[in-house]
Amino acid sequence: MPKPSQTHLDPRSPLVLDTRELPRRPGAMRTVSRVVAAPVDLGVEMIGVPEGSDLSLDLRLESVSEGVLVSGAVSGTVTGECGRCLRAITDSFDVTIQELYAYEHSTTDETTEEDEVGRMQGDLIDLEPAVRDAVVLTLPTNPLCRPDCPGLCPDCGAHFDELPADHSHELADSRWAALRNLSNSEE
Ligand SMILES: [Zn+2]
Ligand SMILES: [Zn+2]
Repeated sequence: MPKPSQTHLDPRSPLVLDTRELPRRPGAMRTVSRVVAAPVDLGVEMIGVPEGSDLSLDLRLESVSEGVLVSGAVSGTVTGECGRCLRAITDSFDVTIQELYAYEHSTTDETTEEDEVGRMQGDLIDLEPAVRDAVVLTLPTNPLCRPDCPGLCPDCGAHFDELPADHSHELADSRWAALRNLSNSEE
């Protein structure tokens, strides 16, 4: 039965690898070292890799009997917002990926599901899903500018960092209380 047609990979796309140079002989190897532009939406809500920023790929492509094994490192920069004080966060990341991509019509292709083993399209490999998974897994769901960030004063919204240790709103509160008393007494 024919498989449902996949979207066609664009060999010029930054996260598509062309394996034409890699002999289809188990053990053959090529390395890929390049800097590409990060794709859109590589991250989670509070933190992620800015679209178009440098993504460094340092990968090894190895021919195995049923496909190509891609392994190596992906690194770059993430930016986001501190979950407590909303300050901008900039950090670097370095993740490793290891993924097997099966040749079209190989036994692996015919006998596994696509979410178990990646697929090649001709000589092309789409790295984006593997890179996305690896990067998103490494990102904190609640990013902080530093582990002990004290956050914002719930009353005035100022950074606790920039406030004196005895910062409090009692004075203002008592003024409000006085005003309230005033208005009450006018009634
Ligand atoms: Zn913070
Ligand atoms: Zn305050």
